[in-house]
Amino acid sequence: MTVNLIGLDQEALRGFCAGLGEKPYRARQLLRWIHHAGVDDFSAMTDMSRVLRERLAQSASIGAPRVLHDTTAADGTRKWLLDVGTGNAIETVFIPETNRGTLCISSQAGCALECSFCSTGKQGFNRNLTVEEIIGQLWLANRSLGRGVTEERPISNVVMMGMGEPLANFENVVAAMRLMLDDSAYGLSRRRVTLSTAGLVPGIDRLGDACPVALAVSLHAPNDALRDELVPINRKYPIRELLAACLRYLSKAPRDFVTFEYVMLEGVNDSADQARELAALVREVPCKINLIPFNPFPGVGYRRSGPEAIARFRDVLMQAGLVATVRKTRGDDIAAACGQLAGRVQDRTRRTRSPQQEPSR
Ligand code: SAH
Repeated sequence: MTVNLIGLDQEALRGFCAGLGEKPYRARQLLRWIHHAGVDDFSAMTDMSRVLRERLAQSASIGAPRVLHDTTAADGTRKWLLDVGTGNAIETVFIPETNRGTLCISSQAGCALECSFCSTGKQGFNRNLTVEEIIGQLWLANRSLGRGVTEERPISNVVMMGMGEPLANFENVVAAMRLMLDDSAYGLSRRRVTLSTAGLVPGIDRLGDACPVALAVSLHAPNDALRDELVPINRKYPIRELLAACLRYLSKAPRDFVTFEYVMLEGVNDSADQARELAALVREVPCKINLIPFNPFPGVGYRRSGPEAIARFRDVLMQAGLVATVRKTRGDDIAAACGQLAGRVQDRTRRTRSPQQEPSR
């Protein structure tokens, strides 16, 4: 058995090097080759002796998930469909903007939380992704986007907002984020790595201790009755507890606000009264509110709020003194927008199989 070095952090790589009788500094060299240079072939590691390179090739590998599909949308958003074995696929999305490039990474094949408006949730849960599969998405995207050692980086930000609930795969997500933050690997600042959660309260507390990064919380409703319906995990961790966890997190976080995501569903959560209720609800928490126009997918019963309803909702929040923005819909022509990522996860529930999202091979 060879070990896949792509998922090992600096400490684990030091252990691996010690096993080969090599000095600890080799770990940093390996990190640089693998993650800075995007190399997957030990023979390219020219600052190591030929003997060492051969020993590495015998005992280790560098591997990311296989790309099944690579699609670019009209607006430049790019989506990769990746094979993670046994009939499971996940999706990774790159969103280019004028002065930054954001990679949206998946943390699970499927999702167990069953939020009523999310296509990943409709697929059911399959399994947690490994560290290799999580960091492999960044590694692959970096390579595909043509980043060399000296080139400017196309990926300046990472959001853990793809398929799955990242806090439900805590250990692997944190290990992958440590690689994102390590200067010898991707060197991203904590403020440019954002984890989005549907509201796993104990996970938010653990994250604050283990690996504080920017936090986004999928709120979506101004009261428990509606949130219970849209985000069923709310029955376990109701809004009050969630907001208290956000406040605790802020004392440890690299940013001084939490982002609340709020999907705009016509006639469900988009009235002016609900905006006022939301403003009152979050008054105590330093936050920004990101309104996400609902992205439809086959078989779903919701509709996107109209532009007037979204503008009115935002205005009410702003009049109440909150910072509110509307997320630009990107890549929806290739089903790469928020909530449209379905991969080719085996549908355990058989509720909403959508053949048009299966890759043609
Ligand atoms: N499980 C995490 C990570 C997913 S992030 C979380 O819930 O935060 C994806 C974001 O897109 C979440 O805010 C999610 O609620 C939102 N979303 C899901 N389905 C959507 C849809 N169909 N249209 C718009 N946003 C959606």
